[in-house]
Amino acid sequence: MNWVLITVAVMASQLTAEPTVVVVGGGLAGLSASLEIINEGGKVILVEGESNTGGNSAKASSGINGAGTDTQEKLGIQDSPELLMKDTLSAGDDENDKKLVKVLAENSVAAVEFLRSVGVDLTDVNLCGGHSVPRTHWIPSPKEGRPIPAGFEIMKRLRAKLNELQEQKPEQFRLLTQTKMVDIIRESGKVVGVEVESADGEKSKINGDAVILATGGFSADQDGLLKEFGAQTLGFPSTNGAFAKGEGVKIARKLGAKLIGMERIQIHPTAFVDPKEPAAGTKFLAAEALRGKGALLINSEGKRFGNELGRRDYFTGRIQEHAKPIEESFQGGSAGRNAAIMLMSEKTIDAFGRPAFNFYAIVKKFFKKYENHQELAKALGVDDTVIKATLDEYQEIFDGKKEDPWGKKVFPVAAISPNEPIYAAIVVPAIHYTMGGLQIDENSRVIDEQGKPIIGLYAAGEVTGGVHGSNRLGGNSLLECVVFGRIAGHSGINASKTRTEL
Ligand SMILES: Cc1cc2nc3c(=O)[nH]c(=O)nc-3n(C[C@H](O)[C@H](O)[C@H](O)COP(=O)(O)OP(=O)(O)OC[C@H]3O[C@@H](n4cnc5c(N)ncnc54)[C@H](O)[C@@H]3O)c2cc1C
Repeated sequence: MNWVLITVAVMASQLTAEPTVVVVGGGLAGLSASLEIINEGGKVILVEGESNTGGNSAKASSGINGAGTDTQEKLGIQDSPELLMKDTLSAGDDENDKKLVKVLAENSVAAVEFLRSVGVDLTDVNLCGGHSVPRTHWIPSPKEGRPIPAGFEIMKRLRAKLNELQEQKPEQFRLLTQTKMVDIIRESGKVVGVEVESADGEKSKINGDAVILATGGFSADQDGLLKEFGAQTLGFPSTNGAFAKGEGVKIARKLGAKLIGMERIQIHPTAFVDPKEPAAGTKFLAAEALRGKGALLINSEGKRFGNELGRRDYFTGRIQEHAKPIEESFQGGSAGRNAAIMLMSEKTIDAFGRPAFNFYAIVKKFFKKYENHQELAKALGVDDTVIKATLDEYQEIFDGKKEDPWGKKVFPVAAISPNEPIYAAIVVPAIHYTMGGLQIDENSRVIDEQGKPIIGLYAAGEVTGGVHGSNRLGGNSLLECVVFGRIAGHSGINASKTRTEL
C-alpha cells in the first residue's frame, strides 16, 4: 500500500498506564475496531506484524454484503436481513452459529454506511455465487483510468481517517508496525496486554485494559494449522498473503480459547494461473465479480460443466471431478492442476469494468484474446464445433429457451457469441479462506473450552469461527470484519472505561 505511514515512534514498553485497548492486526477487523474505539472516546494501540496495515482485507476484490441498503433500493433490488441470513445459513449448511449470523445480517446496512462515512463509494452491487439477489457492494467501475479494487480502497480510506484523527489527538491512536504479538498476558484471571517482538527481535510488553485479536486466518499456514486441520488442502495454492499464519488462533489456544470449525477451509474455485509462472504456490484471485458479470467456465474439452454462480465449494468440486489439467500448449497450461478456462466477451468486460479487466489482461497477462471461437478451439486443440455448440447452447439457456443442465437461474449481462472476440484465462482452485477459528459470542468475547468468556479478550474477523459454517458466501467476510470489529471495539472500550467485563 502506498499511502504515507504515520507510525508513532514510541517504544512498545513505554505504552502502559492509560486505559487503552490493544488491537492486534491491521486488516479490516482491526481498523474497524480501532475507529469504533476512537469514535467512542477511547484510546487504541494497534499492533501490526507487517510493515503496513492492510492484511488480506486490502486484496478483497468483489466487495461487502449489505441487505436492504439504499443503493439496492435505487437499483430496484428487494433484499432484507432475513434473506441474507437465509442465504448465509444455506451456504454454510446450517453449521453456522445462528446468533452470530443474526447479528451479521441485522448490522449489514450499518456496516456499509460505516464505510461510506469514511468516503468509500459503495454505490454499485454484484451478484456473487450463492446469493439470492445482488448485494455485494463495491465501487462503481470507472470507464477508464485506474481500477479501484474494493478492499484496497476500503483499507486506504479507513487508514486515512485514522491518520486524520491521530493528527488531531495523537494520544488516541498509536500504530506499531513490524511489531508481532508473540503472547497474550493474563494476570489474576484477566487479559491485561500482549507481549510483542519487533523486527530486530526485541521483546516488550504492551499493557491494555482489553485486547482485541484481529489477526486474520491461516490460509498460508501449510506447515501448521493447515497440516493439523486440513490435510486434504495441502498441495493447493493459496490466494492469501504469507502473513496468514493463524497466529492469533495459536496464541489464544494456548490460553484455553475454544476453536471451532477448524477443518472448514474454503478452496476458491477460481484463482488465475500466471502464464509466466504456472506452478506458483501463491495465486491472484479471479474475482467472483467476473462470474457475477457473465464470465463462463469451460473445461479442457471446451464444454461448460457447472453453474458458474453456484457455491464456491460446489464449483471447486466440479473442477476437481469434471475438469482435467490444461496442457502447456494452451497459454502455458495449469502445471498439472485440474483447471477451468474462464471466458469473457467485450460486453461482460464492460460490465465488470475495463480498468480492472485490463489489469488482469494487460498488466498481469492472465487473459488472452481470440478473434472468434475457431481461434480459441485451435489454441485449445479441440474441434471448433464443440466450442460453437457450448456457446450456442448457453445462448439458448440465456434466452430462456432451454433449462440450464446445472440449474443456473440468473444470467448476468450477456451470452458470448461464437463469432465475437473471446478472452480466455486459466483458473484453478486455491485455498482462500478459513471458516474456523476462535469461538466468540455476540459481544465478540473470546470463549474458552469451558464455554466461559476469557475476561478482557475479544476477537473479530477471520481469526474467529462460527459465522460462516461449512462454506463462506462471497462478501460476508468483509461484512463480518466491520460488524464484529465494531462490536469488539465497543465491548473493549466499555470494559476499558468501566474496568469491568461486559
Ligand atoms: C484475494 C482475496 C480476495 C478477497 N475478496 C473478498 C471480497 O471481495 N469480499 C469479502 O467479503 N471477502 C474477501 N476476501 C476475504 C477477506 O478479504 C478476508 O477474509 C478479510 O479481509 C480478513 O480480514 P481480517 O481483518 O480478519 O484479517 P486481515 O485483513 O488478513 O488482517 C490481519 C492482519 O493481522 C496481522 N497479523 C497477523 N498475525 C499477527 C501478529 N502475531 N502480530 C501482529 N499482527 C499480526 C497481519 O499482518 C494482517 O495485517 C478475500 C480474500 C482474499 C485473499
